[in-house]
Amino acid sequence: MRRAYARCATRDNTDLKIGLGAAAGWMNVVVMPSSTVEDYIKHIYALAEASESGEASMGRVAEALGVVPGTATTMVKALAEAGLASYSPRVGVQLTPQGRALALHVLRRHRLIEQFLVEVLGFDWSEVHEEAELLEHVISDRLLERIDQRLGYPTQDPHGDPIPSAEGELPTAPLQTLADCDFGVPHEVARVSDQDNDFLNYLTEVGLNPGARIVVTARSAGADSVTLLVGDPSRELTLGLSAAGKLFVRLFVEVEGVVR
Ligand SMILES: [Zn+2]
Repeated sequence: MRRAYARCATRDNTDLKIGLGAAAGWMNVVVMPSSTVEDYIKHIYALAEASESGEASMGRVAEALGVVPGTATTMVKALAEAGLASYSPRVGVQLTPQGRALALHVLRRHRLIEQFLVEVLGFDWSEVHEEAELLEHVISDRLLERIDQRLGYPTQDPHGDPIPSAEGELPTAPLQTLADCDFGVPHEVARVSDQDNDFLNYLTEVGLNPGARIVVTARSAGADSVTLLVGDPSRELTLGLSAAGKLFVRLFVEVEGVVR
């Protein structure tokens, strides 16, 4: 069922039609650039992962892609036609195993590119997301595997996001955020879920990059604040709850004989 997807490899997305299959002689053929297909698949994957039902609502898909709901519905129907998603009008959309494999491959490209830009080309972690958004659609598998090899097969990107393996496996670890982790217990920053430049620059400024040691000392819903100690020697810092919710942390485990 890669037929419609193969037919998506064009930059001209002005003429959107839904394929009726070979039997119908392709009277109506989807013309959708592969980068658009990949963007839809990527966002549907993220939204479905974040939702309790495992489905992405069409409203959220349209919002994430910055299109009107009618456009999103047309596109999602085309993805369903290509065997990449399944769509039910009032429930939403979820990826098929083929769609999920494509989503993980796009994430692998995106995250390896980000890691390459930071590690090898010296970019700042706040600058790489936009670059990766463009490059993720054009890089060949051959170049990607070369980058992976050159980087020593990393498992995380500069924001702490796990990099799917070439086989499409995504290692996941249950993480808490600064908005819900325990008080008084040493944690380290594991992952940052917002890649906005200003936010990342702020984190660098206050020393909250992945790997930073923190201890949450107070939290107040009324004052919309989380107070924490950052680094060693530590400094006190206060964040709003929404910013705190974007910083995932894991328990800091001191490995005997290893200084971290
Ligand atoms: Zn990114």
